[in-house]
Amino acid sequence: MEFGNYLYEPKKVEGFDFDVYRLKPETGRRGTPQSDMWNNIAVFGDNVSGRAHPEWISESARGRGVRGNNQYNLHWDILCPTVQEFRAEQLDYIEKTAEETNQPIFLNSWHFADHGHCTCDRCNKLWKKSGLDWFEWRNQTITDFIKDVKDRVKTKLVLAVLPDPANADQRFGMDHKELYKLCDAFNIVMFSQNYATSWYWEMIARAFRRIFPEKPVYSNLYVCGPGDDPNNCPPVEQLIRVSVRVMRTGIDGIIYLADVADNMVKFQKAVTTKGEYRDSLSDYGGQAALDLFNRWDKIVK
Ligand SMILES: [Zn+2]
Repeated sequence: MEFGNYLYEPKKVEGFDFDVYRLKPETGRRGTPQSDMWNNIAVFGDNVSGRAHPEWISESARGRGVRGNNQYNLHWDILCPTVQEFRAEQLDYIEKTAEETNQPIFLNSWHFADHGHCTCDRCNKLWKKSGLDWFEWRNQTITDFIKDVKDRVKTKLVLAVLPDPANADQRFGMDHKELYKLCDAFNIVMFSQNYATSWYWEMIARAFRRIFPEKPVYSNLYVCGPGDDPNNCPPVEQLIRVSVRVMRTGIDGIIYLADVADNMVKFQKAVTTKGEYRDSLSDYGGQAALDLFNRWDKIVK
């Protein structure tokens, strides 16, 4: 079991087994690669590159892959994955980050924007030339990108998967079977501003345990994000309960996301004040999460 601290600033937090830095989040801004943290890179979700090259934005019959297109749930601008220039630049960037830091590479947004993407001229030409079915072509396009990443990265390669175990192939071009062969670990992005109904999150964790049976699978839980009103972040008891509930599915750990280290420590402190609530979950079968919280009792003041 392993538990991670995942921040938008390069700071480690005591009480975790590993720390992750959002080196290049979907805003597209690039920080400094860290040599004692995993480095997280969002690939095709990239506002900076989308602004500089609007012609690289992913296209569909329901509009472009940009924030404000409410046909989709897009929180950032998403580029077409077949722009050779951008693809090559990202591969170089990923390789250089791994080489410089010797740390795991953790990728987000490495897939198509969603169903119906991308219908740009370039994608259409490549698809027709391939002779493949549309969905097969999309899967192959993404798998080939991850293969290229794997060839370049000698450290551990961790892939963030979206919380859709059933339709990720037709929506995002994610071929779980092929990706399972290529990558070393998987992080299920389970971000939510509340975890009132833990049943669904537990179900998703269980599904991915089955899809990726032998390699590490982490559940990615949301403590708070940049610019969040604390009143709109998940209540601590919900975070405690969902942690216990996902850990009983047999996954390998949880990666907690916060904007900054101070807010992660605040979360840890809040957990230490909930001894009685934690005790009430002692027979739920998610002891690994309770053990993590017990560790925090000893170090958080
Ligand atoms: Zn395209």
